[in-house]
Amino acid sequence: MTRATLAEVLQPALRDGYAVAGLVCLGWEDARAYVAAAEAEDAPVILQAGPGARAHMPLPVWAAMFHALADGASVPVVSHLDHGTSVQDCAEAIALGFTSVMFDGSRLPLEENIAQTRAIVEMAHKASVSCEGEIGFVGYAEGASSEGTDPDEAARFAAETGVDAMAVSIGNVHLQTDQSAEIDRDRLARIEAKTHVPLVIHGGSGLPHTLRSDLARKSKICKFNIGTELRMSFGAALRQTLQDHPETFDRISILKEVEAPLTERARHVIRSLRP
Ligand SMILES: [Zn+2]
Repeated sequence: MTRATLAEVLQPALRDGYAVAGLVCLGWEDARAYVAAAEAEDAPVILQAGPGARAHMPLPVWAAMFHALADGASVPVVSHLDHGTSVQDCAEAIALGFTSVMFDGSRLPLEENIAQTRAIVEMAHKASVSCEGEIGFVGYAEGASSEGTDPDEAARFAAETGVDAMAVSIGNVHLQTDQSAEIDRDRLARIEAKTHVPLVIHGGSGLPHTLRSDLARKSKICKFNIGTELRMSFGAALRQTLQDHPETFDRISILKEVEAPLTERARHVIRSLRP
């Protein structure tokens, strides 16, 4: 049994200067590949079910899948609800045994974000579950633009909500297919000067591996969410497999070929965040 909460994997990362990968899962094969990659690197891993995943497959199935993988793993595995947008979302995940929930109140006015996040933190902590919040707004490539995190608001948010991890907007953008994000180091330093909560970067795919490594070691960023980079790797491997074996029609045979290259890529992602 190696289920772990977000706090259990992020506090050692904060102390010892590294970060943990929050990997966006869309199905069984990628989730299994990510746990295999974490085991190969002897590192903890966070399996995330985000809004896209939840629209594709019911949350109880995600819970059962993540927990089956965690219980058979040799490394700590966090089962994390990514971008919960209501108390109900988070309550359902907690009831299903998720060890961590993110409440995304980043579009709400500050006072409302603080009040709602605090209530969800209290509910989560009562069940020994961790909670991540977001302050500022991390935008989307080809979508809504970001609003940078204000350091004073971040300090208030951390102190008044009691979150275990805080997602910040410092130049990172969701869904970037190239590694072109420009991180505002000055804003990051001003946030770090005012809080001791582990920080989270959503849109980690937009950062080069060397930059992630540097930030993992030298800043309070302890979690990088990575989705797009691995989805691109999955898509490329799937396309290659179908090209190489046009006669193959069986889903299991096809996806078996995809898991090895995906595991390799995930190992690389995880390794770059290690001390
Ligand atoms: Zn996100």
